[in-house]
Amino acid sequence: MLNFELYNPTNYVFGKGQIAKLSELVPKNTKILLAYGGGSIFKNGVYEQVKAALPNFDIVEFGGIEPNPRYETLMKAVAIIREQNIGFVLAVGGGSVIDGVKFISAAVKFDGNPLDILHKRLLIKEASQVIPFGTVLTLPATGSEMNSGAVITINETQEKLSFGGSALFPKFSICDPTVIASLPKKQIQNGVVDAFTHVMEQYLTYPHDALLQDRIAESILQTLVEIGPDVVENPTDYKLASNYMWCATMALNGLLNKGVPTDWATHMIGHELTALYEIDHARTLAIIGPNLYRVMFDTKKDKLAQYGERVFGIQGTSIEEKAEKAIEKTVDFFHKMGMLTKLSENTAEYQPTADFIVNRFEERGWKALGEKQNITPEKVRAIVEMSY
Ligand code: NAP
Ligand code: FE
Repeated sequence: MLNFELYNPTNYVFGKGQIAKLSELVPKNTKILLAYGGGSIFKNGVYEQVKAALPNFDIVEFGGIEPNPRYETLMKAVAIIREQNIGFVLAVGGGSVIDGVKFISAAVKFDGNPLDILHKRLLIKEASQVIPFGTVLTLPATGSEMNSGAVITINETQEKLSFGGSALFPKFSICDPTVIASLPKKQIQNGVVDAFTHVMEQYLTYPHDALLQDRIAESILQTLVEIGPDVVENPTDYKLASNYMWCATMALNGLLNKGVPTDWATHMIGHELTALYEIDHARTLAIIGPNLYRVMFDTKKDKLAQYGERVFGIQGTSIEEKAEKAIEKTVDFFHKMGMLTKLSENTAEYQPTADFIVNRFEERGWKALGEKQNITPEKVRAIVEMSY
């Protein structure tokens, strides 16, 4: 097992009716910015619950954080926080609102051009570099409610870039599974596939000696396969909703990557597809993931075979046969989750995509990705072309 440190200070508050606890969790005598997205919180009762839980608090509202949150929008919140002496931010929404609030939190305290946080991928590690924030999660998917990373899109340059650091864990996150009842089917499908792929990025590498990590990862994958299609159809079923929400948090709260190699290339390539074509994040992962396993078959086949056996119960005579079946089972699962796994099924304009992405990676100095740093620009090209 590789050496590791495990640090996670987020107070995770889970279950029905927990939004009512907000007044115990947010700081007293502090002006609060309530940040939200396009307005779903006004239609599903979450806004009312938040307001009812915070009587007599001084709250300024900031809405309009878009899916794939935009730097340009977030900087408007930064100005409001500075002008109005706000001391705490409450993010109410999905991964986009929470990620957006992480950027706002760091940008408010940043002395310089805040774009540097993204372009130079600055690590935000000190409490003095942020203003504190908490979250009320409305969409299980990203794990952002219990991790310290974020992904921000710069409109002007069509870039989607990630950043983070240990000062960017939420102080608390309220996760009430009943909020998913109002989610459009498409968003639940996305949430399950995003969480599934988060586990795969930290699991589907090569065999190693971190036995418990493998078993934890496999249990999350199995649970998502078991409940995923059903929770889309029955989002008010509390058993399904609560397990879905907990899986999504566990998939990316910093536990699975401890002591093991990780990949993350599916996300890196997927982000480019969202930046170029506005394809939903999870849908880009369903397009890229299986083709990445195909192109990197030699590196990943042993782990693919283990995954196939343990998660899908695949039998076979050789490692290769089990690994190939495991990829097909993954694609079947994505199809069951409503994903279209070809780029051409998601956008009409895709022809120069491979060249564009390879050029971008080279401009950024990314010589290779993946757990073995062997996903070279040429492999990236092959993966993207196979995805057409
Ligand atoms: P999202 O972009 O936050 O939300 C998608 C849509 O769902 C929005 O239109 C939102 O509407 C709506 N919605 C949210 N909750 C709802 C509810 N309870 N009822 C009805 N509609 C609801 O989706 P997401 O998948 O959570 O976040 C995706 C972003 O996170 C991407 O930018 C992705 O790159 C990033 N990401 C971050 C991490 C991380 O570790 N930080 C990991 C993976 C991905 P409103 O805007 O109106 O609320
Ligand atoms: Fe993701």
